[in-house]
Amino acid sequence: MKSNIELSKLNKDILNTLPSPCWIVEEELLERNLKILKDIKERADIKILLALKAYSLWHTFDLIGEYLDGCCASGLYEAKLGREKLNKEVHTYSPAFKASEIKDIAKISNHLVFNSVNQLNSFYKEAKETNPNISIGLRVNPEYSEAPSDIYNPCALYSRLGTLSSDINDELISIIDGFHFHALCEQDSPALGGVLKAFEDKFAKWLPKLKWVNFGGGHHITRADYDREGLIDILVDFKNRYPHLEIYLEPGEAVGWQTGSLIATVLDIVHNGMDIAILDTSAEAHMPDTIIMPYRADVRYSAKSGEKSYTYRLAGNTCLSGDIMGDYSFDTPLKIGDKIIFEDQIHYTMVKATTFNGIKLPDIAILRKDGKVDILKKFGYEDFINRVG
Ligand SMILES: *Cc1c(COP(=O)(O)O)cnc(C)c1O
Repeated sequence: MKSNIELSKLNKDILNTLPSPCWIVEEELLERNLKILKDIKERADIKILLALKAYSLWHTFDLIGEYLDGCCASGLYEAKLGREKLNKEVHTYSPAFKASEIKDIAKISNHLVFNSVNQLNSFYKEAKETNPNISIGLRVNPEYSEAPSDIYNPCALYSRLGTLSSDINDELISIIDGFHFHALCEQDSPALGGVLKAFEDKFAKWLPKLKWVNFGGGHHITRADYDREGLIDILVDFKNRYPHLEIYLEPGEAVGWQTGSLIATVLDIVHNGMDIAILDTSAEAHMPDTIIMPYRADVRYSAKSGEKSYTYRLAGNTCLSGDIMGDYSFDTPLKIGDKIIFEDQIHYTMVKATTFNGIKLPDIAILRKDGKVDILKKFGYEDFINRVG
């Protein structure tokens, strides 16, 4: 299967019409991901939710609503966004809810998932009084994860995320309708198999009393080489053993995966032991996971340092020394005014971007299926001043 990046329709003509910096989402690529997810849903007879934490570009929620069952929210604001703009199932989980927000959250949520026994006992009655149809769940910690690093491992030592099986009893089970676990990060289906085994070893005895299990996010389902047949096998096998349970997946990254890019412009080229191009965007402010995870974003028409004739360090326009995207080589020398295309910059970027250093937020554009470009959002000075004072 081809990757979305290979199918991108972004070309030089479109590039020249875009503001800079600018995120551009390609509707056709988003729909391609959604079709893959819908196929999994139908063949495995499960439900799939969009994790708003990764992707909240609500201008595309009409399209998403055609394919997915709803969204999962991390608290009041995301729940409101999901209810207002997607208006399908809203499942809300937070590491800790605030007493002052629980009513508002319960009113607009279909599922409410608590992180601890203490939170469950504190709030489930009020939630049910507010919304008698609400389904109450508990996030559990399967104490097993193959996540790539501790920062992305909810089962790491001393993790605050999820309740341990040793803290669960029958009385508590009578209060809840479902379990939720989330222990994957950018992983393939065998990693889910491992987590599921650990989950069943610890929690299977309570499953006959429940109505649903949510397998969380982190499933890299839309990646070209992801083992989708393996995922369907795992899901169908689980369903066969527990036919009374509704299964949910809530991927975020897999929805936005390779659906568009971040466009930037070369503002200056300086020399200090190597050639360094300063861009009108920032790794720190606009692509923070490149620094946090960290990872190196691909740049179109480039190769690794030294592979092509002209190597540059691409760096951001803030005063942070480490605001560096990485070293890239090109066939021809870069010039001031050249456009740089960072691939796959739609998930975990817009939702995390800041105005650090007073830098302008990238505008947001969409390439429609018919080839038309719409600017969805322009950011300016107001967005900066409204956040800092
Ligand atoms: C982050 C998160 C997700 C989405 O994870 P992806 O890696 O973007 O698929 C889903 N559920 C929970 C509870 C999360 O914390």
